Amino acid sequence: MAKQKTGERAETTSKMKSAWWEDGVRFACQGSGKCCVSHGEFGYVYLTGEDRTNMARVLGLTRSAFTKKYCTKTDGVWHTKDREGSACIFLEGKRCSVYEARPMQCRTWPFWPEVMNAKSWAKEVKAFCPGVGKGRLIKAEEIRTALAAQEKWEDELKSGL
Ligand code: SF4
Repeated sequence: MAKQKTGERAETTSKMKSAWWEDGVRFACQGSGKCCVSHGEFGYVYLTGEDRTNMARVLGLTRSAFTKKYCTKTDGVWHTKDREGSACIFLEGKRCSVYEARPMQCRTWPFWPEVMNAKSWAKEVKAFCPGVGKGRLIKAEEIRTALAAQEKWEDELKSGL
């Protein structure tokens, strides 16, 4: 799954003022679906209440029906149920079946605080994501915006929103 690492946030955006990505990063999703399959330390597709509401809507379900059918909780945090083979339950072939309502962690990938250090970027992103190095240059300001959105979302997850 576009799988969120279960560990703690490595650095906050405010500590990344002079980051290695200050000149931007070339990235464009290649539709490989690789970020929707578990790999190594990455775990679940976590969902806030807002994520569940949005996903339920595109599937024509109430939020409670969606949650009952597709979600489970670990350590008090909602995430999608696992599917055998470790792919996200919403991955159909290489395509996300709820793309327009995909959760925040899928929208902000690969600009997550825990991988935006040079070591993690090389090992956990560049090594397997074919979108790295492709497409337009994503400017530092856009990366900061994605990181801030991801941090806010992680805080909401932890507070049970
Ligand atoms: S919700 Fe969609 S984009 Fe996110 S991991 Fe699942 S299939 Fe991939």
